[in-house]
Amino acid sequence: MEILLAFLIALATAFVPGPSARRDEGVPIALADRSDPATGLPRIIGGAGRPLVVLDAGHGGHDPGAISPFGARREKDVTLAIATAIRDALVVSGRVRVAMTREDDRYLVLKDRYELARKLRASLFISIHADAAPSNDGARGATIYTLSEVASDREAALLAEQQNQSDRIAGASLSGETGVDRILIDLAQRESMTVSAGFAALLKREASAFFPFRPEYHRFASLVVLKAPDVPSILFETGYLTNATDTAYIASPEGRQQIALGIRSAIETHFARRLVRVAAR
Ligand SMILES: [Zn+2]
Repeated sequence: MEILLAFLIALATAFVPGPSARRDEGVPIALADRSDPATGLPRIIGGAGRPLVVLDAGHGGHDPGAISPFGARREKDVTLAIATAIRDALVVSGRVRVAMTREDDRYLVLKDRYELARKLRASLFISIHADAAPSNDGARGATIYTLSEVASDREAALLAEQQNQSDRIAGASLSGETGVDRILIDLAQRESMTVSAGFAALLKREASAFFPFRPEYHRFASLVVLKAPDVPSILFETGYLTNATDTAYIASPEGRQQIALGIRSAIETHFARRLVRVAAR
């Protein structure tokens, strides 16, 4: 019992961000190859055995996303800069592994974005966006989206029909029998949705000191990019490109750094909690 307790404490202290965590300035990472030549998948940075976070910079290539009336900033550039800042902050503390769906200005269809996370066996998927409300320039603050119940049911049914026997869900082989697979997918998705919602609440709590959230900070939606059944996923709207204050914050290196530190704090706390829970089983 004492040994178990000591183990748990060691685990918890190894993962809970120390006082130095918020002082890091974010060291720029030298960009080597953008993908793993052996697999063609995005490269993973970080020590083996750590949980993997996949960061998805929204939009890209021919899809600019929203365009800010302030400085004509394009959402695709803003999201890439923020995702990169988050990655660099995570690499500095080294508690998780991290990969990005794109590291340059390229277009990826939505399904490919979460399929990359699935293929890499990610433990968390975060799609980064920036909001726009052209008719309400007073709207500001961050919003977190997770998959809605209705969308998840529909998706589970669809997936069950499309699967073949070589497909796997949450590490287990599917049977190829639609009814049984539907249940397996459903279970995996339900677990993912619970974890995603928990992470949304944690993100609000951990990151509120770094940047503002909207009063209704957590919303549910049928967003394609959130539909990986076995990877907890959120879509994070950083703030409004149609709001002058938000745009100035999001577009500045200092603002991005604060956003990165807030999100890192949530990610590291999330995995520290999960490790303690697994060890306690
Ligand atoms: Zn967007």
